[in-house]
Amino acid sequence: MPRPSAVRFSHFLPSLLLLLAGLAAAYVKDLNVFFTSLFNVLPTLVLLLGGAYCAVYRRQRELFLMVTVYIAYFLLDTQTDYYRDNGKVRDDAAVVFHLCCLLLPLLFGVFAAWQERTHLFQDMVARFAVLLAVGSVALGLEQSYPHALLIWLSEIRWPALHGAWMSLIQLSYPVFIGSFLLLAYQYWRNPRPLHAAQLVGLLGLFWMLPKTFILPFTLNIMCSQVMLMIAAAVAHEAYQMAFRDELTGLPGRRALNERMQRLGRNYVLAMSDVDHFKKFNDTHGHDVGDQVLRLVASKLSKIGGGGKAYRYGGEEFALVFAGKTLEECMPHLEVIRESIATYNIHLRNQDSRPQDDSQGRQRRSGTHASSVSVTVSIGVAERIEQRTPEEVLKSADQALYSAKGAGRNCVMAFGQTRRGAVRMEAATVE
Ligand code: GH3
Ligand code: MG
Ligand code: MG
Repeated sequence: MPRPSAVRFSHFLPSLLLLLAGLAAAYVKDLNVFFTSLFNVLPTLVLLLGGAYCAVYRRQRELFLMVTVYIAYFLLDTQTDYYRDNGKVRDDAAVVFHLCCLLLPLLFGVFAAWQERTHLFQDMVARFAVLLAVGSVALGLEQSYPHALLIWLSEIRWPALHGAWMSLIQLSYPVFIGSFLLLAYQYWRNPRPLHAAQLVGLLGLFWMLPKTFILPFTLNIMCSQVMLMIAAAVAHEAYQMAFRDELTGLPGRRALNERMQRLGRNYVLAMSDVDHFKKFNDTHGHDVGDQVLRLVASKLSKIGGGGKAYRYGGEEFALVFAGKTLEECMPHLEVIRESIATYNIHLRNQDSRPQDDSQGRQRRSGTHASSVSVTVSIGVAERIEQRTPEEVLKSADQALYSAKGAGRNCVMAFGQTRRGAVRMEAATVE
């Protein structure tokens, strides 16, 4: 089931910046020698560095995407070089260009949507076989029947749909649209930086092709940018894997450790723990437990007062308030504790899914809807004197222990007594 909340603009940001930089660079007139030499070697450099990077991370899909883009670049660059040097196009320019307009979006879409499922070596062989088969059929046809192929490619099959603005062969547009829809669906199903980069990369290629012979370095620049988008997405995902918790989407323990190294002089740390969660798991199952952890995480991520939530591990979450005092944070912690306690979580139970819509409506409005709720206990500690963040976190953990002892579902500050906790709770209720 897709989670719309996981669709993030940040997934698209690096690729969009690269796309904009590519567009800006392509429109610059009168490039000096430094830039012309740079753009001549850039695609090869990016392929070598990006390809090595993908290979180290064993990302075959991305590697083959880069190789596909590079092959198209190589074929078209030979043509544009000839055009620049001789002032006219080569004899085979039209057929090569049209083939690229058809096969580049096709292979880009196929390799981008083709998930790595099998054994790494088999996967590589299969991808290589597809590339080789498509390449050799295209080359064979181009060599044997260049004229017939050109006519077939450039034929206007649907005159009613043909617009004067279309500078690519008509066949290329449905292929671009098909690939775009496929990749958009893939991103929607599984929102991650790589899938976003593939979408933006396809748009970059779509923009690039009609300009290949018009703007001098469009081809070099845009192919490099698309390969960079893919390499950047691999780096983005590697970063996320290291610093983000997969289940909840919150930053994880490693991110917390890093944050704790640069907290400054005043800060407050809180530890929260779901109450009786083992029993909850035993009663409702681990999958429901996971759903609940995601909801608790989403509530905690909305904490006010400048706080930031991290998944510490298991069902424990840390909250960091940089530059804040205990008095400033307590009301926000109390609000979040209460909002979790009063939230009715409607369970999505796969087994008891209704057979049809009317049954589903009946269940949601009737007595069959099953909902549960959980509570959290929170321990808080403020930095005082010369204590390290680790010591403050330990104090927050001790306060959490006291909150559990005080009956759970409460917020307790380090050094606070059980009576104080109860009083504080009463005060906020009033
Ligand atoms: P207390 O109120 O004292 O905190 O009781 P508790 O049962 O919550 O405490 P305990 O730390 O003994 O249990 C933690 C449980 O959290 C154990 C494990 O089943 C569950 N848990 C930890 N991580 C996950 C997770 O990622 N998913 C799910 N579903 N459960 C988890
Ligand atoms: Mg625990
Ligand atoms: Mg617990």
